[in-house]
Amino acid sequence: MNSRRHFLQKLTASALTIPFLGENRAATLEKFYEEPYDGPVLRVAIMGLGSYGTRVAEAMTACKSAKLVGVISGTPSKITAWQTKYGIPEKNCYNYENFDNIKSNPDIDAVYVITPNGLHKDQVIRVAKAGKHAICEKPMAINAAEGREMVAACKKANVKLLVGYRMHFEPNTLEIIRQRAAGEFGKVYFFQGLSGFRIGDPTQWRLNRKLAGGGAMMDIGVYSINGSRYMIGEEPIWITAQETKTDPVKFKEGVDETIEFQMGFPSGAVASCLSTYSINYLDKFFLVGDKGFAEMQPSTGYGPIKAKTNKGDLSYPHVTHQTVQMDEMSAIILQNKQPIVPVDGEEGLRDLVIIDAIFEAAKTGKKVTLKG
Ligand code: NDP
Repeated sequence: MNSRRHFLQKLTASALTIPFLGENRAATLEKFYEEPYDGPVLRVAIMGLGSYGTRVAEAMTACKSAKLVGVISGTPSKITAWQTKYGIPEKNCYNYENFDNIKSNPDIDAVYVITPNGLHKDQVIRVAKAGKHAICEKPMAINAAEGREMVAACKKANVKLLVGYRMHFEPNTLEIIRQRAAGEFGKVYFFQGLSGFRIGDPTQWRLNRKLAGGGAMMDIGVYSINGSRYMIGEEPIWITAQETKTDPVKFKEGVDETIEFQMGFPSGAVASCLSTYSINYLDKFFLVGDKGFAEMQPSTGYGPIKAKTNKGDLSYPHVTHQTVQMDEMSAIILQNKQPIVPVDGEEGLRDLVIIDAIFEAAKTGKKVTLKG
């Protein structure tokens, strides 16, 4: 079965059998994937043909308004394999040395940067200078200073910068955000975010400070940071953090293994989060106010996301996150659509400012204040 049909069947089958708590988001999605589409199509080149790049490419085969048309890679054998698999013409294939030439390629609109975190800044700036829109994986960069440079470069080049926050398009997540914004949980008091997995191979780039920018926080803790912001709907004004390290050989200086952190928000709501590379099955969000609660577990994995509130289960159909993300990003870039939760460079930068503050708080043991 081709993947678009597979995606549609999954969506439709579950959509028919499940009573929605709020139908709009799922109904709109279902309509979009069922009806013929003759609008503009975002033509995308993926940079970095690794594990996540492969997942995005597969998901894009089911997209209606975004299409994989090019690759940028340092591995010639992968380029050849992707050309065959996705019908990518030779003229749309680049390596890390020559991809600035994409400037004179009218058949590519955007480059999706899916390389190690420490490379994002320079690569996104080069993409912007080549006059192409940039989609960048999370974390957008390895600190806020880099993030600011990227935002400025894209602004100067008059191209859009988006960050691969796939959860910002996930129906269960959006329904909880809708309910919270509608006051259904009352005054929000507390959010808990647990994000972690047990990391393997000690030689991988994720454990290399230069390429990763840190450890678990950059990779997985960022989900709890970002999640606390969209679940509570506010920006934090203070941060405290505590780091623990059980294996200083595997997790070298500047590579965090486990960090617990707390954030305070202007309304008085508090978040308590855990980011770790040492514990599996850690993917949970909990939000509570004086009228109700929402719980998601898993909350940010590839799905199906499982969510419930004090009123019962939220059973939105599973959608392939990256398919919906890329179709939505096409609309954001080509049709100026405003997403419910932003996915722009400023949004990526907000998380980087918080990560900087968490590292500072963990190092100094002091409460760090933010502008909010
Ligand atoms: P991988 O290691 O699987 O792939 C990274 C790819 O980047 C490599 O295969 C390689 O592709 C390219 N690359 C270029 N330079 C280097 C280098 N010096 N060292 C290693 N690889 C290099 O990583 P992932 O795909 O898992 O992660 C890539 C990015 O995607 C990260 O920023 C990560 O945080 C993010 N990510 C996001 C997820 C999400 O759910 N949003 C999930 C997983 C990752 P090539 O051979 O083609 O040059």
